Amino acid sequence: MSMVSVQLPDGSMKEVPAGSSPLDVAASIGERLAKQAVAARVDGQLVDVAVPLHQDCRLELVTLGGRDGLEVYRHSAAHLMAHAVKEMFGSEVQVTIGPAIENGFYYDFFSDSHKFTPEEFEAIERKMAELAKADLPIVREEMSRDSAIELFRSMGEDYKVRLIEDLPNQTVSLYRQGSFVDLCRGPHLPSTGYVKAFKLTSVAGAYWRGDEKNAMLQRIYATAFPDKKELRSYLHRLEEARKRDHRKLGRELDLFSFSEEAGAGLVIWHPKGAMLRTLLEDFERREHLRRGYDIVMGPQILRTDLWKTSGHYENYRENMYFTEIEEQSYGIKPMNCLSHMLIYQSHIRSYRDLPLRFFELGTVHRHEKSGVLHGLTRVRGFTQDDAHILCAPEQLDGEIKGVLQFVRDVMEIFGFEYELEISTRPEKSIGSDQDWDRATHALMSALRDTGLPFEINEGDGAFYGPKIDVKLKDALDRRWQCATIQCDFTLPDRFDLTYVGRDGEKHRPVMVHRVILGSIERFIGVLIEHYAGNFPLWISPVQAIVVNVTDNQAEYADQVFNLLRSEGIRVEKDVRNEKLGFKIREAQLKKIPYMLVIGDKEMEQETVAPRHRSGATLDVMKPADFVRFVQEECKLYH
Ligand SMILES: [Zn+2]
Ligand SMILES: [Zn+2]
Repeated sequence: MSMVSVQLPDGSMKEVPAGSSPLDVAASIGERLAKQAVAARVDGQLVDVAVPLHQDCRLELVTLGGRDGLEVYRHSAAHLMAHAVKEMFGSEVQVTIGPAIENGFYYDFFSDSHKFTPEEFEAIERKMAELAKADLPIVREEMSRDSAIELFRSMGEDYKVRLIEDLPNQTVSLYRQGSFVDLCRGPHLPSTGYVKAFKLTSVAGAYWRGDEKNAMLQRIYATAFPDKKELRSYLHRLEEARKRDHRKLGRELDLFSFSEEAGAGLVIWHPKGAMLRTLLEDFERREHLRRGYDIVMGPQILRTDLWKTSGHYENYRENMYFTEIEEQSYGIKPMNCLSHMLIYQSHIRSYRDLPLRFFELGTVHRHEKSGVLHGLTRVRGFTQDDAHILCAPEQLDGEIKGVLQFVRDVMEIFGFEYELEISTRPEKSIGSDQDWDRATHALMSALRDTGLPFEINEGDGAFYGPKIDVKLKDALDRRWQCATIQCDFTLPDRFDLTYVGRDGEKHRPVMVHRVILGSIERFIGVLIEHYAGNFPLWISPVQAIVVNVTDNQAEYADQVFNLLRSEGIRVEKDVRNEKLGFKIREAQLKKIPYMLVIGDKEMEQETVAPRHRSGATLDVMKPADFVRFVQEECKLYH
């Protein structure tokens, strides 16, 4: 018998009879591994565990514990769903494609007579469970293109025929399980019984091949996990995310809206949302001033020639909006850098002036495709807490460390953990090798100094310099891009910025673009979901609501309300002639931190009895003491 030698990931070699499969190899190592193996990598290529090995090779067994294994698992679950749908709907529905995606999979179906609804999901899931229980072997077959076309044509699967017609290969592979056959590269699980836990989640329209000129398909989204426990925990997180969805809470808490008439991706801030935003912006101004930044403001549109000087026109034009005034072309700013450069240029600068730190709550507009717009987190017009630091090269390290400390302080105030990443030179970029090396080195050394772990993204920098990205982790363990720190040796060159050094000579300053929260819009979207709408007292648009029990206390309730408001407390009142329980429930839905219920006792003693939205009650106190209490609670630094 001829033998082949197989090299395992730990470097050890195994001799097995030619024609043995990865599964046989797994079994020869241990029964447990054989049970866990769902696919294999042979010389780097992902294949079925049942594929016969005819040559010496490197072999890595793929289990459900890893990314590859999960993808094979989820893609097999997609076949299982298509199988169930075909069993239930027969020729009424045609199959197209069904890839694995993050946390699950989808399958696109075509039908001109049947429209899938979520009400059918349970029946489809039952059918899938039945087919999984039957533990049908999933078998790979190879055949010539022509026979495959003939086969799918005879089954009335026109979309599959079209897919095969577009393949360059002379031979194609199919996967069969029971009565179901699908064109597929594979690999797949050994049998349907491996699929243990899945759930259909939604159905949406999707064009064939993503092209709106093509037929509309029906895409069923689903999720699948190796076991029921993991599935349950995922569904729980999904449900929690749904409850916290900032678009839904934004409506319920009356924070903001979008209007088709105004245009997609343009936020309209209602009083409470505008208050929240104002509080954040005031916070930002204070924090920047105490760190030695100057507040500046620039125009919304700048002449296109200036965008040409900066390189934006060449590198960023497709994301910009342009307009014309008196035959002069203007670009609406997608970034705030340019006016800050002009402020620098407005004086002769000496080394004694540096560093200069220009801060602007700068509103920018960028062209995002309508398909990617999403609530506050992906919009076309947004405001950045943007600053540009101009410093001498030897000051760069210290400045970047200062920004990282700023990020650390702010993230602590909001209760976010975060991760750091550094991105290096991309293919499309401007600036010399020497500039890039110097900038990258400065960022790296500042990162190392923080003592925090960081990741390196090769080639992911901005076109004008390397950058540090800060990704915060919210309460549901999702990652959000917020702060970025970008070094830029290029713009000072293009604008010929200089300062007079100690030596009396002209020198080039270094520039750092940086944001801390990033887009205020997006940050508010993240905050809403992070806090589930229960904002901390200091940024709650409404901090307290005065509620009377009966009309009898209406006058005193008014007095309390007026006192609080004059003391700067953000307060509302509800003196309607409604049942107390009803008023309390309404205040709770608004997630107002404190409710001040006023009955006869409070009125007689001229006190208030504050009750927190969590249900906890505070001691009865004088209204003036409540004012002090709120002021104390809102202090960010003690
Ligand atoms: Zn497949
Ligand atoms: Zn900038």
